[in-house]
Amino acid sequence: MARTAPAPIATWSNWSGNQQVRPVRVAKPTSTDEMSALLQDAAATGHRVKPVGSGHSFTAVAVADDIQIDTSGLSRIVSVDRAARLVTTQAGARLHTLNDVLSGHGLALPNLGDVDVQTVAGAISTGTHGTGATVGCLSTFVERLTLVTAAGEVLHCAADRHPDVFAAARVGLGALGVITEVTLRCVDAFVLRAHETPVLLADVLAGVDDLIAGNDHFEFFWYPYTGRGQAKTSNRVPLDDAPLPRFRAWLDDEFLSNTVYGGLCRLGRAVPALVPSVHEVAARGLTERTYTARSDRVFCTTRRVRFTEMEYAVPRAALPEALAALERILAALPFRVQFPVEVRFTAADDIWLSHGYGRDSAYLALHQFQGAPYEPYFRAFERVATALGGRPHWGKLHYRDAESLRAAYPRFDDFRAVRDRLDPGRVMQNAYTRQVLGA
Ligand SMILES: Cc1cc2nc3c(=O)[nH]c(=O)nc-3n(C[C@H](O)[C@H](O)[C@H](O)COP(=O)(O)OP(=O)(O)OC[C@H]3O[C@@H](n4cnc5c(N)ncnc54)[C@H](O)[C@@H]3O)c2cc1C
Repeated sequence: MARTAPAPIATWSNWSGNQQVRPVRVAKPTSTDEMSALLQDAAATGHRVKPVGSGHSFTAVAVADDIQIDTSGLSRIVSVDRAARLVTTQAGARLHTLNDVLSGHGLALPNLGDVDVQTVAGAISTGTHGTGATVGCLSTFVERLTLVTAAGEVLHCAADRHPDVFAAARVGLGALGVITEVTLRCVDAFVLRAHETPVLLADVLAGVDDLIAGNDHFEFFWYPYTGRGQAKTSNRVPLDDAPLPRFRAWLDDEFLSNTVYGGLCRLGRAVPALVPSVHEVAARGLTERTYTARSDRVFCTTRRVRFTEMEYAVPRAALPEALAALERILAALPFRVQFPVEVRFTAADDIWLSHGYGRDSAYLALHQFQGAPYEPYFRAFERVATALGGRPHWGKLHYRDAESLRAAYPRFDDFRAVRDRLDPGRVMQNAYTRQVLGA
């Protein structure tokens, strides 16, 4: 009888296209028990495993050496406790699915990043954040989580259950085990009024403390080679405030942000000398707009223009110095940078490998259009950010190693001790965790 050849394993690629791998095997468990059996089997047969979410990290954090765990088989929202404002979800659920379910129950997540396509576990595992003076990263919303360790043990963790694992696994880099379920603290559903306006960088920096403190959510974009930018404030308003008309929303979000912007980026890539003028036009041409919508729709947009990114969290007071250095770096680069620099703010938290551990942060995100050179830009800024006590986003490109990161995180060795205990055989290891945590 003819034997059927096993289906070939497809090459996996992240969203940005800069990380690719063909894993030895792809497994798609659909329950905590199946996950436990899978991990026990991997440990017994000497394989390494790596769960992957929606592949939205730029670093190799989700690249599997051997067995890739597709977490889409664990994407159910398990329960919503309206009175306690808690939602329990399987770890592979996408944030947009969660947002819709929560909205139906009159609830919402307190804050979100720029996009909502990440999985819950993927987002928290790298410290995904939005902006807001009093709000920490998404991992700070976690009340409980279920972690399957490399030995297949199932740990139910919370502040009072396995507290050290809880402090580590909320930003765990997929290095401690596989999360199968997460309970998140929500708030009552809310509506935000966003105001976007062209600004002068000098004005923003002069008033930045008031802008951060005076708005629920404040961020700004700076256009390299110009003294201009765009500020966005989002503040809570009554639930029945008027939403942006549909056509205007499409014009701003889809057409201007993606279609026109993508065209300008391609133009800048083809003719680098035009980049400063393109930034000047973009910065001046940005129309002021005010719109109101459900919170997640104001926080998140669709990103179709692909790019590579580095993001550093620095102590908030170091922002002016970091931006001044960035201006000098940009002027000296042998190529032009086509994307604006995004600046956001978060509150201090107590999660060991959170970028915001123990301090209020300013985040500076450096982007470059897909296919354009970026490494000298990112490396030059990394030198500045490191000297300022900066911490690189775990999901965005950086070049730091364990020894250098150890100096930036007071509880780094505690994290490594939990990893040694939960995964002494390094079943969860990959090249990235070797780089940032050590072998
Ligand atoms: C267009 C775009 C916009 C972005 N916007 C923001 C933003 O506004 N703010 C921000 O902070 N970041 C942002 N990011 C970065 C992104 O949020 C993070 O990289 C996030 O980790 C991606 O989630 P994911 O589901 O794609 O996870 P992946 O990238 O697939 O995986 C990330 C990590 O999570 C681990 N993991 C996945 N599932 C599990 C599990 N079940 N158990 C244990 N570990 C697991 C993986 O092993 C890996 O270590 C953006 C990225 C892109 C491409």
